[in-house]
Amino acid sequence: MSAAIDERVTDEVEALEAILLDDVVVKREDDVPKSIETVVHPSTGDDVDQQFVCVTLEVKLTSKYPDNSPEVTLRNPRGLDDETLANINSQVKKKLKECLGQPVVFELIELIRESLTESNLPSGQCVICLYGFTEGDIFIKTQCYHHFHSHCLASHLIAGKKYYQEEMDKLPNWQQMQAPPYQQTCPVCRCPMACDVEALKRAPLPVQSITAKPFSLTAELKALQTKMASLLAHQIAKGGVVGMGDTGPPPLTITSPSDNDEESNATSSTAPEPTKPEPRHNGQNGAHGNHSNENSTPGSPQTRPAYRGPYRGFNRRGKPGRRSRGGQAATR
Ligand SMILES: [Zn+2]
Ligand SMILES: [Zn+2]
Repeated sequence: MSAAIDERVTDEVEALEAILLDDVVVKREDDVPKSIETVVHPSTGDDVDQQFVCVTLEVKLTSKYPDNSPEVTLRNPRGLDDETLANINSQVKKKLKECLGQPVVFELIELIRESLTESNLPSGQCVICLYGFTEGDIFIKTQCYHHFHSHCLASHLIAGKKYYQEEMDKLPNWQQMQAPPYQQTCPVCRCPMACDVEALKRAPLPVQSITAKPFSLTAELKALQTKMASLLAHQIAKGGVVGMGDTGPPPLTITSPSDNDEESNATSSTAPEPTKPEPRHNGQNGAHGNHSNENSTPGSPQTRPAYRGPYRGFNRRGKPGRRSRGGQAATR
């Protein structure tokens, strides 16, 4: 059986396992190596804390490898933007061509490591503040190789814990007992983290958040506003805007048009007729009898005094007995 394996491949795999030890995973079928996987880091000596980028290299050995090129995939890039990754990929392709006929995995690891060392600064933005990383920024690399300004991560974790506590306080005691304890998680991939929030909090604000030009309403932004305004008007007309003007989180509430009419009737203190499928404008006149805008067209957002879509008064959630109160609050 082992005679069928190319000696060049066995030698290469043995060397990889001897040097990389646990850092390489070789998958075999019937003792034949099929794929090699390893996470490549930049060279920073032994200082793991200074490694801000990494990528997983997967090499699938084709049956005629090394006389044929293996299939190479770069997975789970961390701290690398698309451009850098594309650049590494094209270098890998070139290397595969050059090395046809000889084992290539060590060469690939070396090549990728060099590229990573060159770009060993997180590229892209901090997903919390959306500013980039620049000279002078204090940032943190999580175990999952995601990067955040320390200051931003502190704010995120503090808010996360507060939210957890608030949600917990809403639960009955027996559910609180069963709930999993608070756990810090990465805002990008949700991997568990264990950060010292107090230490993070002492970091200064992101440099760009201070040096960024003050906000000004550019022509581009104005054009965007106009576009969004017409989109919003369209959505309002279709009844697809949840909780306009309401406070509190928008829950997912399914109501029918007749709910609306029922509510309008209730607010005008006439006897509600829940199942009567009244046209909407009747209900409106009932609720706003003293409103000067009597002949406003239903569905036209400009002339309507307030949002009257099917989700109006959503804050009555879970309190069906308070319908009319919710309706009143929404119309005043
Ligand atoms: Zn940030
Ligand atoms: Zn992460």
